[in-house]
Amino acid sequence: MRRALIGGAVGLLAGFLTFAGIRMLLYQPTVTHYHANFALYIEGRRETFDDFTFYEETVACSVDDSGDPHQRVHMHERESEIVHVHDSLVTWGQFFDNIGFSVGDKHLKTRERVYAENNGQRVRFILNGAEVDEIAERVIGGRDRLLVDYGSDGSDILMERFAAVAHSAADYDARDDPMSCSGAPKTGLSDRLKHIFR
Ligand SMILES: [Zn+2]
Ligand SMILES: [Zn+2]
Repeated sequence: MRRALIGGAVGLLAGFLTFAGIRMLLYQPTVTHYHANFALYIEGRRETFDDFTFYEETVACSVDDSGDPHQRVHMHERESEIVHVHDSLVTWGQFFDNIGFSVGDKHLKTRERVYAENNGQRVRFILNGAEVDEIAERVIGGRDRLLVDYGSDGSDILMERFAAVAHSAADYDARDDPMSCSGAPKTGLSDRLKHIFR
């Protein structure tokens, strides 16, 4: 009887270990990580995003997201032209929220003030070479190039500014991006252990 109990317990344990081992081996996180470029002008001056708080620490990019929206999309390493996207279905509005801005079709809010439409000053968006009415609800596309412009400058000037938006997203996609977020997923033991039961 006792022997049977022990035998049963050992069997259960072996079964669990096999199950856990297989789960750990099979765990292959799908890591979303792509890039887009943007520039933002206010009354003819390009915003340079100088403050370090505009940029996320690289530890913010790990496989396990804690649900913090800042992990989904952000900038790194004081590079203000490149947006790192770490999740699917992330919108431009969510990116701007994460840096303390808000961008609507009739307003632009920075950390310091709100710019609203008035006296011919307005918010305009050039996305991938074409003017669009709004960007807040748009999912950031891989290698998107976006110009956000508040002011009264004409379309020709806006197109010049758009032309100067960086084209570096493809480079960031291609390299492993080691200085910012690792291109390769981090699947250490703790990541694997956490995924046994999910
Ligand atoms: Zn990142
Ligand atoms: Zn990146």
